[in-house]
Amino acid sequence: MSQEVISNVICTVCGCSCDHLQVTIDNDKIVKVKNACAMSSGKMLGYRNERTTQPMMKKGTTLKPTTYERAIDVTAKTIIKSSSPLFYGWSLTSNEAIAIGVDLAEETGGFFDNTTSTCHGPTILGVHEIGESSCTLGEIRHRADLVIYWGSNPVHAHPLHMSRYTVMSKGRFRKSRSDRKLIVVDVRKTDTAKLADVFIQLEPNNDYELMVALRAAVRGDEIEQETVAGVSIDKIEELAEMLINCEFGALFFGLGLTMSAGKSKNIEAALSLVTELNSKTKFVIMPMRGHFNVNGANNVTTWLTGYPYAVDFTQGFPRYNPGETSAVDLLARGECDSALIVASDPISNFPYQAAKHLTSIPLITIDPHITPTTMCSNIILPSAHVGIETTGSTYRMDGVVLETRKLVDPPKGVKTDVEILSALLKRVKSLTR
Ligand code: SF4
Repeated sequence: MSQEVISNVICTVCGCSCDHLQVTIDNDKIVKVKNACAMSSGKMLGYRNERTTQPMMKKGTTLKPTTYERAIDVTAKTIIKSSSPLFYGWSLTSNEAIAIGVDLAEETGGFFDNTTSTCHGPTILGVHEIGESSCTLGEIRHRADLVIYWGSNPVHAHPLHMSRYTVMSKGRFRKSRSDRKLIVVDVRKTDTAKLADVFIQLEPNNDYELMVALRAAVRGDEIEQETVAGVSIDKIEELAEMLINCEFGALFFGLGLTMSAGKSKNIEAALSLVTELNSKTKFVIMPMRGHFNVNGANNVTTWLTGYPYAVDFTQGFPRYNPGETSAVDLLARGECDSALIVASDPISNFPYQAAKHLTSIPLITIDPHITPTTMCSNIILPSAHVGIETTGSTYRMDGVVLETRKLVDPPKGVKTDVEILSALLKRVKSLTR
């Protein structure tokens, strides 16, 4: 079979959702990828490695091969029997799969949470309080003449963010790096900071203080201290001047802001700073979302329940109280008695108590890969990669919806998340109605 080259492929790794990849397919395998960053090439060329391709179910202490039908039947019965099932993950799958997951949690009276609760949860709480001024990445590319990365290191975490959307992109009104100023605020001189026109190094866990001082300087208030967060007042005032004098500014922030002391209060301070700046110039703010569809997990859950994550259906209606109804808190308190994990690896990154409880309850995982979570699972349902082996819609970090493509077939017999979850929902309904 001859090689086929597919252009404008959407990457399904980080929240940038770059849609300019060129993929060469030979004999139903991806053999070459152009325009991708190292993270994307690694996934595109390595998607066949460390796969789960056979449904497995634990007998005693050993995982044994089974069929999808049998595994789905046992999963349905396990979830129905549970008083507080947890449905967690969702940021590496499609909007369509997430919507079925929400239906499943509602049908079985469980908890529905996504990985936001361990990354940008504080961002969402901050937005609830203050609101946000946002726009698309396209507008930033064409118009922004000043870009700030605060607590974020895109050179490593979102490698094409700067070249596609910000300081190094070619926009309509801003053509090159020399048309834009780059400011980096971080606790250490990261590789992104090395490219900055201005680098502000602050003391760890003092983001809130610096953000509030900067807002005061933007407002023209006098600050009666010599330094804030280890940064001199002169430097803060100089920075405030730069922000006020830009024509279109964009503040991007990462986990360095959401997960340092203050958490959602840091985000409220950042949103308030941007509100203040909008009385003097044009400014927008945007979180640097990590997984390619974590934004979709928030959006789809919000359309269907009114809440973006940590949704509790145990009372028969959706309830939302992050810190109480989020996965880590529920698991650390030992409150869930079964868990269905979709496209996520919580055993690798949850705190010890939460991960320990996950291993003590019936654990079912739907995932394309072998992970520490699949290895601890009672049931494993292998799935196809969204954006490589199946289609599906996703939300880019700025809220633009994109339709990913199917490039190759999944391994023989492997089903998609949508097929598995639809069959599971159907089985649950047949057993409960
Ligand atoms: S920056 Fe992110 S979305 Fe873009 S190619 Fe790299 S991993 Fe993919």
